[in-house]
Amino acid sequence: MFITDDPKDKVYKDLLDFAFSVCDQFIVVIRKDINITKDASAVLESLAPFLIAKREQFEWPGTKLGTGRPDCFGQKAEPATVYYFKTDNEAKKILLEVSNSLHSWMQPNLPEDLSFIKNQNPWLINTSHESISYFETEDKDEIKKIMNIEDLQVRTPDSLKNNVPKVYTDDKYPNMKCIFCEKRFKEGDTVPESNASEIYFVCLKCMNNDLKVCNADGKIFNKQSVNRGDLIIDEIQTLKIEDSDLLEFITDIFKNKKGGVCSKKCLNSLYINECIMHLQTYLALASMEKESTSDLVNMIKGNEDIKNKLMHKIDELKTFLW
Ligand SMILES: [Zn+2]
Ligand SMILES: [Zn+2]
Repeated sequence: MFITDDPKDKVYKDLLDFAFSVCDQFIVVIRKDINITKDASAVLESLAPFLIAKREQFEWPGTKLGTGRPDCFGQKAEPATVYYFKTDNEAKKILLEVSNSLHSWMQPNLPEDLSFIKNQNPWLINTSHESISYFETEDKDEIKKIMNIEDLQVRTPDSLKNNVPKVYTDDKYPNMKCIFCEKRFKEGDTVPESNASEIYFVCLKCMNNDLKVCNADGKIFNKQSVNRGDLIIDEIQTLKIEDSDLLEFITDIFKNKKGGVCSKKCLNSLYINECIMHLQTYLALASMEKESTSDLVNMIKGNEDIKNKLMHKIDELKTFLW
């Protein structure tokens, strides 16, 4: 059962009263990638007498940090600290004093994601950043009591399905124009950039007409007319730093990429552009103050020679584009 509106003030209090009567534990989370204020630390200190455990975790109810593997820049997710507390009445008083709504449990001013646990199982799961909260319970009596919390907005998954908001209404996006049925573009035409008065898109009806828009030059082409075997990289780009090729990740993608472009020339200009952006991202990550979880990024950070190598490679790649 989903809570569809942030429980505030009296609703927040009634919800906490009920959760404290049903559950034996509650949790809050501190993520290392977001700073916290003195207020958030003070809340943890005041809750300390009720602390059961404190664990480093990549996952907690409602959230999973990363895939566990490093991303394409070698960065790894850092675990968050999950604090487990007893549902003691005094602890409840603190939760009511420091906040007046469920979704306000967010860093930097408070710890994150106040959630409740009953017999080791998540019972009320709250992901404040996404304003998503829901109950995991099949207990009829509990469900009835939840429904009876005054002004708490709850929906069952079924009632949510029947209530999907209409996103694409004509009055909301009057400028959206289908390039085929409205703008009458044909094979060989180049779709211009969208502008303030017209946003170009392909409507659902026209999606399966065999015509595609090239991701590199915007030309409309028939996908049957492109020989996939021709779509190969002219010159494989590499940039070796120690034992790593910084461009290997992009090269691997383009070795297997056979769609979305109208010609070999377009495949190659897209490839070069992606290589440039990839190296620029390395430089941007290396210019951040905080130490990275990627060894490679940290190596670039501390070494002007390597930085220069990256910048030279970017300049060299740019010459391919003209
Ligand atoms: Zn259309
Ligand atoms: Zn093209």
